Amino acid sequence: MADAEDFDVVVVGGGPGGSTMATLVAMQGHRVLLLESEFFPRYQIGESLLPSTVHGICRLLGVHDEITKAGFPLKRGGTFKWGSSPEPWTFSFSVSPKVASPTSFAFQVERSKFDHILLTNARRTGVQVREGCAVSDIIEDDERVRGVRYTDAEGNEREATARFVVDASGNKSRIYQRVGGKREYSEFFRSLALFGYFEGGKRLDQPYAGNILCVAFPSGWFWYIPLSDTLTSVGAVVRRESASKIQGDPETAMKALIEECPMIAEYLADARRVTDGNYGQLRVRKDYSYHHTKFWRPGMVLIGDAACFVDPVFSSGVHLATYSALLAARSINSTLAGTVDETAAMREFESRYRREYGVFYEFLMSFYQMHRDENSYFWNAKKVTNSSLTELEAFVELVGGISSGESALVDAAAVAERFRSGAVEFSSAIDSMTDNLGGSMAPMYRSTVVRQAMQESSQIQMRASFGADAEAEESLFPGGLVSSPDGLFWVAGQAQ
Ligand SMILES: Cc1cc2nc3c(=O)[nH]c(=O)nc-3n(C[C@H](O)[C@H](O)[C@H](O)COP(=O)(O)OP(=O)(O)OC[C@H]3O[C@@H](n4cnc5c(N)ncnc54)[C@H](O)[C@@H]3O)c2cc1C
Repeated sequence: MADAEDFDVVVVGGGPGGSTMATLVAMQGHRVLLLESEFFPRYQIGESLLPSTVHGICRLLGVHDEITKAGFPLKRGGTFKWGSSPEPWTFSFSVSPKVASPTSFAFQVERSKFDHILLTNARRTGVQVREGCAVSDIIEDDERVRGVRYTDAEGNEREATARFVVDASGNKSRIYQRVGGKREYSEFFRSLALFGYFEGGKRLDQPYAGNILCVAFPSGWFWYIPLSDTLTSVGAVVRRESASKIQGDPETAMKALIEECPMIAEYLADARRVTDGNYGQLRVRKDYSYHHTKFWRPGMVLIGDAACFVDPVFSSGVHLATYSALLAARSINSTLAGTVDETAAMREFESRYRREYGVFYEFLMSFYQMHRDENSYFWNAKKVTNSSLTELEAFVELVGGISSGESALVDAAAVAERFRSGAVEFSSAIDSMTDNLGGSMAPMYRSTVVRQAMQESSQIQMRASFGADAEAEESLFPGGLVSSPDGLFWVAGQAQ
């Protein structure tokens, strides 16, 4: 085996989490190695983005202009046939159609292209990016993680040592286990997704033609994401129990699910399924809703899907991956600069990451709670009232001490009550908007779950857009840290 090379940071995985992390650390002049097992461009699911990724993270990374010019469809929000209204309603990123801000949109992206732009940008920023390099294990001693073992593109076994190892290797990650703790799977969100690609599907009317369309039906719900004028990503989220039927014959299963959902059937009436190239196969994903009970140990940190993922319904995956990358980069930059000690920096990373995961978990639960179908196994399982005690207790365990709202979460009963009342408030906000289609989004933006879900995102956007001119940030926790004016370090926060 060749001698180990030494770096400040080794990042495992070149998805949006890994690229973001590596770039933000390399920008400080640190020596960063990024190991990616595949060769880019490579396929990945997760095509619908949120504004904070585009206007916050991409701006900090210096790729905002490139992403804006890449020709990705403009996403003004989500259109939902879901809940009590028989008509579709729209969740728009701008509070009012009359005062749309320049950052109240995101993009629908082909991940092969989006991820490639971020990885190329990492390389340009000085990250040593090595593709075709699969990490097999970490190197550790009694005190901390000290590096990784990997197989390079020529099949050689190699080692790299570093002050920090970042696991950004996604849902297939295996080395995440080496941080200790365990992966907790969610019973509530436990579903299966079957997805493929279609040419020639219908579009929503302008100005919402680039929106994600989500349609509830008895067996679950469909996503319908326009990736170009003609290409659409279509996926059905259904009960996990249907796995054997769907995996046995995905083609027949997909056809039957489309027939069961009149709106999607109508949108695909003149479309043909893509059957060749990267988009040619029907794919299945399951067991994707989980969180790890520990996000770091000395010398090692988990970000993105290696740490947690909630559910596809509100496009939060890339946001959580890049947000956690930003938090971890601040912690590592501050530790390497010697301005904050590792434990304090990593505690801030972990608390904020858990909080954001908890916020989306709660928001997405409200989303599921608002759709009713008494005769459906899928929809009956997606009710707060039917959540198991273990699920709620796991949630308390995750965010209890760092409560994501006003009320402290001390036990499962308090969580259930908060989820129930949040869902009622959210659902009545949506009902009041659907009476007033095309009007103001204000009622929805006033609801607790949406306010919480937007809080950190708008903070990142402010920091990325205005830098030192952004409003002073308050720490999220008593005695906690806040971001530096350039957004890349932690500094002491003001007392709350
Ligand atoms: C059905 C479904 C639909 C979804 N829809 C959306 C959506 O619309 N919007 C959204 O934002 N999110 C969505 N997501 C979530 C999204 O796919 C992920 O959250 C996101 O890709 C996570 O990014 P990441 O950087 O953590 O990991 P990834 O994007 O998975 O990147 C990890 C990288 O690590 C590499 N790797 C793996 N193992 C190794 C190894 N041993 N050594 C080196 N490299 C390795 C992989 O090749 C990969 O390139 C969806 C998820 C599912 C399951």
